[in-house]
Amino acid sequence: MDSSHPQEQHAETRLVTSGRDTKAQKGFVNPPVFHGSTVLYPTAEDLHAHRGEFTYGRHGSPTTKAFQETLMALEGPQCAGVGIVPSGLSAISTTLLSVLKTGDHILVCDNVYRPSRNFCNGMLARYGIETTYFDPMIGAGIDKLFRQNTRAVLVEAPGSQSFEMPDIRAIAEVAHARDALVIDDNTWATPLYHRSLDQGVDISMQAATKYIGGHSDIMFGTISANAKAWPMVAEGIRLLGVCAGPDDVFLALRGLRTLSVRLAQHHRSGLDMARWLAGRPEVARVLHPGLETDPGHAIWKRDFTGASGLFSIVLKPAPQKAVDTMLNTLKLFGMGFSWGGFESLAIPFDCDGYRTATKWAPGGPTLRLHIGVESVEDLKADLDRGFAALKAAM
Ligand SMILES: *Cc1c(COP(=O)(O)O)cnc(C)c1O
Repeated sequence: MDSSHPQEQHAETRLVTSGRDTKAQKGFVNPPVFHGSTVLYPTAEDLHAHRGEFTYGRHGSPTTKAFQETLMALEGPQCAGVGIVPSGLSAISTTLLSVLKTGDHILVCDNVYRPSRNFCNGMLARYGIETTYFDPMIGAGIDKLFRQNTRAVLVEAPGSQSFEMPDIRAIAEVAHARDALVIDDNTWATPLYHRSLDQGVDISMQAATKYIGGHSDIMFGTISANAKAWPMVAEGIRLLGVCAGPDDVFLALRGLRTLSVRLAQHHRSGLDMARWLAGRPEVARVLHPGLETDPGHAIWKRDFTGASGLFSIVLKPAPQKAVDTMLNTLKLFGMGFSWGGFESLAIPFDCDGYRTATKWAPGGPTLRLHIGVESVEDLKADLDRGFAALKAAM
């Protein structure tokens, strides 16, 4: 399969054609799953020089290479390398440990994934790296938070609970003038809908556990970096010794092949459900940057080419017990963490317990919904019954 000019094709095509070597695979469409630690060298001289495309299981195999080539083709021409790690959280920890050192300072958006904060407040603090949290809507105003030792800015667009949309372009312009790296948790949109490396981001991470895997059956993380940041990330991965199991790499590659059709459905169904919910009398507000009324809509429209299926709603004031009754009534919306699979999910959440730079006061109970690929008519009927139970329990 010739993928020598992948950037001339559309993203949907690159996802299908990249990382395939039909001849080496004896005609089969997909690469085999290489289970392996030891790689044998033909001669002592080859061994001394670590010569060969593959040198040791932890450092990669034909299976990981196929995945890396395909994700690189999706990220675009700015991408200098893709690192594979065992979970989304390890993508965050590995990245931060790769680019920071004792005495450094990092700026972190107040709406990031909570375990990212725990890593900064726990491990980075222990190694003498200081974190300052900032308002997701800060834009170019972030300039005043920079210090002499600020080395990196961590953003998530939109934040995966509260859905504020930081202006990454404005933040990146300031960060680069200050010689700091911009790190983006791009799990929500994936590079299919947000080419973050083209927009000033130096390192774009994903919990591939979510949409890349797409079936709620793997834990997996990716770190894509530009030419400036890739040597640091590659060294960090090597020093820390992180890698992923070959079966999970294979499932992640398989997920990538159909990412475009799955995300297109999540986009359509998610927006449909968001609009329907915005019209419901039980709902005070829908937090979805794809809605014209959302404060993040202009930035979403400028920087993103689609939305995934995850968003939140603020209910009109109701006792938590009544909300729990609603959740217990739902049949199609399961209750559980993670998202990005084929199935719909609903969980209550509260950012108040951990946000520090901004106040979280939504004015009512909040639910985060993941819209899967079920029929939206059935999903609406399920929520209809849930809302009826909510009202009956008030
Ligand atoms: C789930 C998630 C992670 C962590 O991914 P795991 O694979 O569960 O470790 C990181 N960032 C975001 C935005 C997530 O939603």
